[in-house]
Amino acid sequence: MHSPDHNQSTLGLHLADEAATACFGRHLAPLLHAGMVVWLDGDLGAGKTTLVRSLLRACGHVGPVKSPTYTLVEIYVISRIYWYHFDFYRFNFPEEFVDAGLGEYFRDDAVCLVEWPEKAADHVPSPDIIVRFHFVENGRTLEFVACSQEGQKCLNVLKSGWPGAAD
Ligand code: ADP
Ligand code: MG
Repeated sequence: MHSPDHNQSTLGLHLADEAATACFGRHLAPLLHAGMVVWLDGDLGAGKTTLVRSLLRACGHVGPVKSPTYTLVEIYVISRIYWYHFDFYRFNFPEEFVDAGLGEYFRDDAVCLVEWPEKAADHVPSPDIIVRFHFVENGRTLEFVACSQEGQKCLNVLKSGWPGAAD
């Protein structure tokens, strides 16, 4: 786990449609590595699962990518790296994270992608990256927040390579 960096920096993007969200996922996928934690923030239908799907596909996963809303976690193993996709939307109490033993998934050989992390507040490990989605008239806006040095490295690469990237 990487400790949070207080000098957070961000990148803002406009994603006009689902294809743009998927395109962002393809750019982000090669920048993530085992040990990283990504929090996905945004209302229902904002595009969190869509982004995870594109990340996994970009890494070579060919099967379905289902929302873990009911299962809490969906597990993928791609090239010996574990990808854990969590969704805590249905938690009534943050302590359910502890009761379910989910802390054991946050390991150095795993990338953890977390929808609704605030529902597991104070228990879910802190992120390297927060990806925030907002609804706008034309699609979505995405805010990429680097919360650790590892997250900052990703942000630096994205900033240099994404057309129209705004600070
Ligand atoms: P969440 O996991 O945040 O609840 P989903 O990814 O399951 O949301 O659903 C997002 C919905 O919005 C899907 O129907 C998808 O096609 C659509 N979508 C994804 N990205 C965009 C975008 N940039 N603009 C418009 N629609 C989008
Ligand atoms: Mg979802």
